[in-house]
Amino acid sequence: MTVDLLIRDAYLYIDRDWEVANGWLSVKDGRVHAVGDGAEDVPAAKSVISAHGRLVTPGLVNAHHHMYQNLTRAYAPVTNGTLFEWLKGLYPLWADLDAESVYLSTSVAMVELLMGGCTTSMDHMYVHPRPFLIDAQFRAARDIGFRFHATRGSMTRSVEDGGLPPASVVQDEDTILADSERLVAAFHDPTPGAMGRVALAPCSLFSVSERIMVESARLADKHDLRLHTHLAEDPDEDSYCAEIYGCTPTEYFERVGWASPRSWVAHYIYPTDDEVDRLAHAGVCTAQCPCSNMMIGGGTADAMDMRRRGMRVGLGCDGSASTDHASMWLETRMAMLLGRFRHGPHAMSARDALDMATRGGAACLGWEDEIGHLRPGACADLVVWSMSEVAAAGALSDPVEAWLRCAPAVAGTTIVNGKVLVSDGVPLLANLGDILRDHAREARRIQRLDG
Ligand SMILES: [Zn+2]
Repeated sequence: MTVDLLIRDAYLYIDRDWEVANGWLSVKDGRVHAVGDGAEDVPAAKSVISAHGRLVTPGLVNAHHHMYQNLTRAYAPVTNGTLFEWLKGLYPLWADLDAESVYLSTSVAMVELLMGGCTTSMDHMYVHPRPFLIDAQFRAARDIGFRFHATRGSMTRSVEDGGLPPASVVQDEDTILADSERLVAAFHDPTPGAMGRVALAPCSLFSVSERIMVESARLADKHDLRLHTHLAEDPDEDSYCAEIYGCTPTEYFERVGWASPRSWVAHYIYPTDDEVDRLAHAGVCTAQCPCSNMMIGGGTADAMDMRRRGMRVGLGCDGSASTDHASMWLETRMAMLLGRFRHGPHAMSARDALDMATRGGAACLGWEDEIGHLRPGACADLVVWSMSEVAAAGALSDPVEAWLRCAPAVAGTTIVNGKVLVSDGVPLLANLGDILRDHAREARRIQRLDG
């Protein structure tokens, strides 16, 4: 039998428990077909890629992002603000988002993610000044061939109700719930190997009503969907919840029916140990965003402690305007540095961080059976990593540690669903120049730099 694609001469990281020093991996019909050692039983293939001894890993999984924010990257008036100052400065600009600018920002984000070795991403799209923005995101994902887990974000509380955003970017409850149903019917594909799924994602406990939290959980039960939100990102959330709900953010999260294996949360920096234990026991996963947390200068979650307590932890690059990049390799390196900075050199290895970026992210998305590993049957989403000979010189004894310590690594070849989307570090998207030109035009319009 002839397979579609063969990757040979590779150092294969299949998952945390399986590495092959001089291996090959075959792909057929968008799936990992087989894995082998050395030159034994190498199958015939329509197309062959030699990795020349380089590291091959599962595609990294991005568990938290806001793609539209790359239209306002490094926006000078707010670069040194707190999280709330940053949001208040940018919401009025984001009120000018439309389907065209969301299509372009999503396209740029997905190409950037592919170049950083990410093959599946969620996106937390919670600003809806105009309808059908997530529809535009799915068009971008299909045009590129990216595996996309959209989340229908929402906000109901504007400045008039004590929230942060202007009224133009929030929506009423019935509109949010009806659009959530519509998107699930149009784009959620629960079948194995799906290229598009939809989750429900109220922005945060303090930006939506209690009814939206409760009804989102009900809707997720009805359609078997994932649930996502920001949780315990800022100490201000504690005082808000104490004042409005008379409890902690985690207690409120439990009260509205979210402490379930359907849920994953972003950040989760300020819970008590007992609260981490409770959510871990309930099956809730967390997405840590190391660069975002450090850029904002607040706290960071103790990811290794969470893992010890049984919580699954993935990684996210978070919004481009807080992190300003979308390289999951960089997030993985930062997660490792943060773990070691916190607890010393024995606390965290490159393999721990890679496990978070692959299986941890897949757990967040409820997709562990098919992505985040390269065992036969998995989706053929993988990366042949590339490092300059100069940066890698002398790194001979451990390819996985070298990959994350000797910097920077970029995706030489990125494969999604068995298709090569990045080759020799270059995205294979014919109209990328047009997309970048149009993105620049939309970024100027949104940042009000014209006229
Ligand atoms: Zn976020």
